[in-house]
Amino acid sequence: MFTKILIANRGEIALRIIRACRELGIHTVAVYSDADGDSLHVRFADEAVCIGAAAPGESYLNVPRIISAAEITDADAIHPGYGFLSEIPHFAEICNSCNITFIGPPADVIARSGDKSKAREIMKEHGVPIIPGSDGIVANPDEAVDLAHQIGYPVILKALAGGGGRGMRVAHTDISLRKSFGTAQSEAERAFGNPHLYLEKYIERPRHVEFQILADHHGNVIHLGERECSFQRRHQKMLEEAPSTAVSPELRKKMGESAIQAAKAFEYRNAGTIEFLLDEKGKYYFIEINTRIQVEHPVTETITSIDLVKEQIAIAAGERLRFEQEEIVIRGHAIECRINAEDPSRNFMPSCGKITALHLPGGPGIRIDTHIYEEYVIPMNYDSMLAKVIAWGSTREEATARMRRALHEMVIEGVSSTIPFQEVILNSRQFRSGKFNTATVEQLLEASYPDTGRH
Ligand code: ADP
Repeated sequence: MFTKILIANRGEIALRIIRACRELGIHTVAVYSDADGDSLHVRFADEAVCIGAAAPGESYLNVPRIISAAEITDADAIHPGYGFLSEIPHFAEICNSCNITFIGPPADVIARSGDKSKAREIMKEHGVPIIPGSDGIVANPDEAVDLAHQIGYPVILKALAGGGGRGMRVAHTDISLRKSFGTAQSEAERAFGNPHLYLEKYIERPRHVEFQILADHHGNVIHLGERECSFQRRHQKMLEEAPSTAVSPELRKKMGESAIQAAKAFEYRNAGTIEFLLDEKGKYYFIEINTRIQVEHPVTETITSIDLVKEQIAIAAGERLRFEQEEIVIRGHAIECRINAEDPSRNFMPSCGKITALHLPGGPGIRIDTHIYEEYVIPMNYDSMLAKVIAWGSTREEATARMRRALHEMVIEGVSSTIPFQEVILNSRQFRSGKFNTATVEQLLEASYPDTGRH
């Protein structure tokens, strides 16, 4: 087992990893930027190293500085968290060549998964259902239109190197497809430094259902059930739950087998997520594989009682999986609400500044993962997530009641938060009936904030 782990991240996920390490008796090293000197991850780690200025390129994305910090402190492994360097194959490779264990899959697995058309190809070869679309990239608008005629409108253009829901464009006609092509290309170039696009059939009113998998270095792969992530705004998840109201035990078995097949096809190692779209007829399609711990991992932890971060560390240390598929038991229901420093009544405008008053909820079935505290000043340089509230109940109704109760107790003053919109979701007919899809958030926004100039 490792003796010291450096955490190449910040915010709630850095704290989450420090907590797992402390329980395992592993020493921790935090790294931080000039903007994060007052952060809790700096205070809770055993050691902390300042690695540079606030801009991510100067600190949390700066590979030489992070590697130096690991070398100076004699860390034997690095946990990348999510975002930042977590899915950069080059970083995993460098860790490896410096004899520091990267807690995640090998560099070549990250590279294969990050190339979305390559990932589609691998899935197709191994019999995992994919959305009809291009074999590889679509080079120009003419090719895109030809393909759209073959598979039928609507279609979606996606960035080959995409992530975070950016660089996607839906088209219903030849004209809109031609028009979107250039915009999508330049958006992809700007966001990912790679203008290449691929095309897929656009699935209307799908659900986003993803499977958590664990794979060790000895060929064992299991899944820990699904997470329902259809409540999304601009393809960014807002509320997640497990299990999904759209997945029956039979479908779970089938999708779980596909997820394991997908992981094996990628020669996957460590914790990962296989994302699927599920259509209205119950057909499912692979969309991508995420090679990191996900923001929404606590809902899976809550219903399986398995600590995913500890499992990541054990797998990276070469240990065998401690569970067989049959030993995974799903108990009750869990919901996660992401609370962001954004104002839902002003088109989710980011809100920075000092938290002047804070009261975090508690009580039965409530877990809070957060890095904020009273008087904390939210830096402008990073994402806007303030906290994750996770509610568990023996039934979905109980989990929902607990979540509503927790949000009611929660006080954040000094900055705006997305709590009011999370309450809109929880109170909606769609959420309560369990019948919703990836377009539901947009409908709820339309009804709740009609005059905010959204497009
Ligand atoms: P990213 O890597 O940017 O997150 P994904 O491929 O995971 O991109 O897609 C993100 C979201 O975009 C999905 O959860 C879904 O809501 C939507 N989406 C992606 N592809 C399609 C598709 N072919 N049809 C309908 N919706 C899609």
